[in-house]
Amino acid sequence: MSKSPLPGLYIVATPIGNLGDIGARAAAVLARADLIAAEDTRVTAKLLSHLGLRIKMTPYHDHSDERTRADLVARMVDEVVVLVSDAGTPLISDPGYKLVRDARAAGRHVTTVPGPCAAIAAITLSGLPSDRFLFAGFLPSKAKARADAIAEVAGLRATLIFYESGPRLAATLAALAEGLGARETAVAREITKLYEECVTGSLAELAARYAEAAPKGEIVIVVAPPAEAGAEAADDATVDAALRDALAGQPVARAAKAVAKRFGRDRHELYARALALKGGA
Ligand code: SAM
Repeated sequence: MSKSPLPGLYIVATPIGNLGDIGARAAAVLARADLIAAEDTRVTAKLLSHLGLRIKMTPYHDHSDERTRADLVARMVDEVVVLVSDAGTPLISDPGYKLVRDARAAGRHVTTVPGPCAAIAAITLSGLPSDRFLFAGFLPSKAKARADAIAEVAGLRATLIFYESGPRLAATLAALAEGLGARETAVAREITKLYEECVTGSLAELAARYAEAAPKGEIVIVVAPPAEAGAEAADDATVDAALRDALAGQPVARAAKAVAKRFGRDRHELYARALALKGGA
């Protein structure tokens, strides 16, 4: 950024783990900021130190009072005010919405420096359909509210994305299995960090896996859309028969996938069943 940036509000995405993911334009805007409005100034201080910058910061949350917001909006008349959250894209399950709303209402220059976002990183890792998705943020922790929130999205023909933490993961997966039925799912953990992993399976399988030991770190759950409209309803015997037919002409994985699609069943479950049938069960 060689020319002086226009005064206003700059919404700047920051890394979700690996500091090397800070973009060149994000670093340049941070370097030219008059003030950084940060979710937690101690967290942002680490990023600034990584970039070799010393810039004035002020804490900002959406529950900061009207006065704090009004002061920030006033400063945007002739200063570069940068909004950052602890990690990823501000406003995405993070503070910023009210500040952007007020800055726009006051006619300030509002612009964005896009970058990392855990939800987007997770869907790209998951191998699940990415043409239509719903970002649902954090589910409520109380069982009834969580079940109601899941019921609201159960019928959507879209991949669902949830944010979660390790200690709550197994209970959330079990509630999703209960509310959504058998669906392929990915649990993406510690994205861009040393122990990044993306584990796939059915909701029930993953709930059982994580009930044994709660994982550490930050987590995104990505759930496949419901079975295709027009999938045939069938009992287990019919599905077994279709699997036997399919196995006669193709490898196990392809047979399981085709039959899962036809009957709207979970591909991983049918793969295990196909192996059992092949073995003579
Ligand atoms: N604004 C952030 C973004 O753009 O992704 C999200 C902030 S939200 C308060 C924090 C949640 O994002 C975590 O609980 C986790 O669900 C998800 N998350 C953030 N970083 C992550 C990472 N490196 N790996 C997996 N999930 C992550």
